[in-house]
Amino acid sequence: MKKGIAASPGIAIGKVLCVENQAIVIEKHTITDVDAELEKLSECIDRSKKELEAIQEKTRNEVGEEEAAIFGAHIMVLEDPELSSAATDKIKTEKVNADYAFNEITNQFIAVFESMDNEYMRERAADIKDVSNRVLGHLLGCVKKDLSHLDEDVIIVTHDLTPSDTASMDKKKVIGFLTNVGGKTSHTAIMARTLDIPAIVGLSDITDYVKTGDTIILDGTKGEVIIQPDEHDLSSYDKLKQQYNAEKEHLKALIGLPTITTDDHKVELAANIGSDEDLDAVLSHDAEGVGLFRTEFLYMNRSSLPTEDEQFEAYKKVASSLKGKPVVIRTLDIGGDKEVSYLKLEKEMNPFLGYRAIRMCLNGNVKLSKDFMGKDIFKTQLRAILRASAYGNIKIMFPMISSIQELKDAKQLLEASKKELDREQINYNKAIEVGMMIEVPSAAVISDLLAKHVDFFSIGTNDLIQYTCAVDRMNEKISHLYEPYHPGVLRLIKMVIENAHQAGIWVGMCGGMAEDQMMIPILLGFGLDEFSMSAASLLRSRQLIRSLNKSEMEKHSQKVVTLEGADDIKKYLVDLEV
Ligand code: PEP
Ligand code: MG
Repeated sequence: MKKGIAASPGIAIGKVLCVENQAIVIEKHTITDVDAELEKLSECIDRSKKELEAIQEKTRNEVGEEEAAIFGAHIMVLEDPELSSAATDKIKTEKVNADYAFNEITNQFIAVFESMDNEYMRERAADIKDVSNRVLGHLLGCVKKDLSHLDEDVIIVTHDLTPSDTASMDKKKVIGFLTNVGGKTSHTAIMARTLDIPAIVGLSDITDYVKTGDTIILDGTKGEVIIQPDEHDLSSYDKLKQQYNAEKEHLKALIGLPTITTDDHKVELAANIGSDEDLDAVLSHDAEGVGLFRTEFLYMNRSSLPTEDEQFEAYKKVASSLKGKPVVIRTLDIGGDKEVSYLKLEKEMNPFLGYRAIRMCLNGNVKLSKDFMGKDIFKTQLRAILRASAYGNIKIMFPMISSIQELKDAKQLLEASKKELDREQINYNKAIEVGMMIEVPSAAVISDLLAKHVDFFSIGTNDLIQYTCAVDRMNEKISHLYEPYHPGVLRLIKMVIENAHQAGIWVGMCGGMAEDQMMIPILLGFGLDEFSMSAASLLRSRQLIRSLNKSEMEKHSQKVVTLEGADDIKKYLVDLEV
């Protein structure tokens, strides 16, 4: 048995699919069989070309001609006789291995293109790099598998999955996943919870223990993997799985009931989503709204920025499906672990402390793509959200705000977008509520001042915990220090809620803490107005809240913030037995 970080609850029993994604390592060797090396190179170029043709076709059918063209450019690189003949010459004359020769030659081409004055030509360097990685992947036998089309149910086992890998997975066939790295609040883990797929992350070396085709048991609730299960394991976990599913069925009785405490205090129970694909789960679990729409997923797994119209359609679809219930649309939060391949974002030493979210969206100096700066991308999004606000109860929310000035700058761009729409006589909700996330400690500390400039706060505990405790939310080596129950974190939350109420605004929470069943009583006691979480946790949370007495919980909340450490707080909450 192996133990990791329980990232998404539930049990999966099934066949493993190992997905390689280790870095490509090239070494120089002297070879004796030149012909074999030449044949290998030509085979791998051919294979890459066929793959690219298939991707081009799929993209043309599913996305559009313009997006498909990018793969046409990749095919042209592979067909360039200069490139292949330079590589074959190198193999013949220097008697070196094919991957080394191909890598050397493509690097020379890349350097030439990168040094050109013309922007279009410079961008071709990125095409050559992409194509070169594909061919090298084949030459070295470490190709990343395409997860969007799978033939049978599988449990994915891999070193790491990016949020964009997760977004493009064939969700009907992936019944679970395991990764060596990652934390509970990495976006890959968050997506697993949204999709209701059992998952364990931070297993450190699970890729060394299983191979494709092995049968395993994944217990996402406990964070345990049973490798080579025997008959007894299989039958007992099958029973557990049935029990888990039966509980889920049982919770359906709560659909349609209000989220109200035994002393009649009503709170709002909302869902977090990443795209309109999550709507079915939101509606079937009876969410009272969408408390967080992570819009950055609209920007991933494509080759160019979504247009204003595309975004407008997506936001409008969510708003109209919610039929007047609130929908909090968070503006772009790229950076950290969320990459967008076609934007020119440099690798950073500390991505979570770096060029991320609102910082990028307010930048009017640095180009992020051929034509756009962060500010232009932000304005396009603001216009799309405003236009969609005519079709439902949309609220707008800014991520990663750390100062009053940042908030003012973001609001100023929103006002400018409203004026543009006024001039163009385009309809939008002129009284749209504007809120901000509290996920940076500096914002929590000045929440009394910030509250005067917004209509609501939503506390993002995933980031607030990592910044308060100085613990990278992605790093499994220090995951034991990522501590939601740290009294420092709880005191900040209490303070934010009090400051919000003092200023007469409402306050929600859309970080993972909002669905933690042990924490909900305390948050209720602090006076949190809205709890937003993965759809799969909604009914369980409603059941809990309906069993609690708010005034009782207030007393417990006052008590926990006087305790000295996370362990004392956990013990206190376990003893509460609510
Ligand atoms: C958070 O930080 O708690 C949050 C909800 O935002 P994200 O997880 O997308 O960073
Ligand atoms: Mg965040």
